[in-house]
Amino acid sequence: MAQLSAMDVYNLLPKANCGACGCKTCMEFATKLVNREAKPEDCPKLDDESLEKLQELLAPPIKELTIGEGDREVIVGGDEVMFRHELSFFNPPPVFVTVYDDMKEDEIAGKTEEIQEFQVERVGEVLKLDGVAVVSRTGNPEKFARAVEIAVERSKDLAVALITTDPKVMEAGLDVFDERPLLYPATEDNIEDLAKLAADVDCPLGLHARDVEDLVPLVVEAQQYTDDLLLDPGTEFGSHDVVSTTDKLAEIRKAAIEEEFESFGYPTLVTTFPYAFLEDNHVKAARRESYLASACVLRYADLLIMDTVEPWALLPVLTQRQCVYTDPREPQEVEPGLYRIGDPDENSPVLVTTNFTLTYHCVAGDLESADVDCWLLVIDTGGLAVDVSVAGGQFTGEAVKEVIEETGIENNVEHRVLVIPGKAAAVKGDVEDATGWDVVIGTQDSSELPEFLEKEGLLRIDE
Ligand code: SF4
Repeated sequence: MAQLSAMDVYNLLPKANCGACGCKTCMEFATKLVNREAKPEDCPKLDDESLEKLQELLAPPIKELTIGEGDREVIVGGDEVMFRHELSFFNPPPVFVTVYDDMKEDEIAGKTEEIQEFQVERVGEVLKLDGVAVVSRTGNPEKFARAVEIAVERSKDLAVALITTDPKVMEAGLDVFDERPLLYPATEDNIEDLAKLAADVDCPLGLHARDVEDLVPLVVEAQQYTDDLLLDPGTEFGSHDVVSTTDKLAEIRKAAIEEEFESFGYPTLVTTFPYAFLEDNHVKAARRESYLASACVLRYADLLIMDTVEPWALLPVLTQRQCVYTDPREPQEVEPGLYRIGDPDENSPVLVTTNFTLTYHCVAGDLESADVDCWLLVIDTGGLAVDVSVAGGQFTGEAVKEVIEETGIENNVEHRVLVIPGKAAAVKGDVEDATGWDVVIGTQDSSELPEFLEKEGLLRIDE
């Protein structure tokens, strides 16, 4: 599919340049629409027909849809490109974790609370899980309804998925919770019943087939009732699981985006939780889930349903998601300036780093976790890391001098000693000449900084 241009969109706008949308010109608004930074409804001068045409033109080839409502809402799908550098990937895939109706009630409650409370901070962002998936293993409607009830009670902002092939069991779950849970799996055996049910209660429906081509008849049948669909082409368990599963997802994405095959214009869904029942060894199962889910975040899962709540197994998945779903058009940078780490005073060391987000958070995090009190001077390298900015000429003596003058750090400390990163050793002389400060070359890796500062007697600098 050819990439939409701002001119294609501009041709449908009123061209009044009135500014009511917050843009000075209609062309600026058109550019924002193409970049998904505005919505057609933001232009009050559009008539109904033009609005509808624009919405159609701007609709991504992979449908964007919601699961849950209010605090429990997550958005899935909505992508337009095969490769992130072509535009950006939108809507990071939500990660759901399972509980089962054959667990004891206190186990369901305990695991749901673990899912709800799981969080880890990385690069200044809190990474969390997004949903709880209640799986029927008993086939008993009352037991399933009770499991759903407990999972909903013990979570506050998790989206919900109801997992059973039996429409009667599904109805029992919906009697307890009907705020747009995901209903899954609709297969060739229950497609009509589940699609009708999904349409009646206005819930998204996950379709499951053993292979990509087997999804097509399911989509066609489901579309008679609902258009809020997710596609699961069958996760392969075995020696080639990662390759074959990601190949299937790529095939669906390619057909939807490059060949405009409408039956595949829906978000995809990957389940790794069956590993928990295929492997005797709990650690081995969690490890396999982690491999598969991490790979599928890259190519091209829009939703993941996992069993494990092991932090070491979830961390690679959530980290991968955080990395892939940043916008490549936006530099990843923090505000340059002076940052206090801990409770520094006039004898505390002054360290220098760059304003690349990852660099800043690694350095600050390593110093904070070791309880180091110091001043951190962050220079403006346009969001580039240390080695790149040294090579590119952004990390210079002049840049350090500028941040010293702008922040007034000279008034905060009595000494004149700067610790620069080990990877900036090449600019030591330049920094000394430009600033007049003594320069100490620090470590290659920020995790070694606390020990280095202590060993070199730099934790308190008395001059
Ligand atoms: S509100 Fe509409 S007509 Fe006015 S500048 Fe924006 S896009 Fe153009």
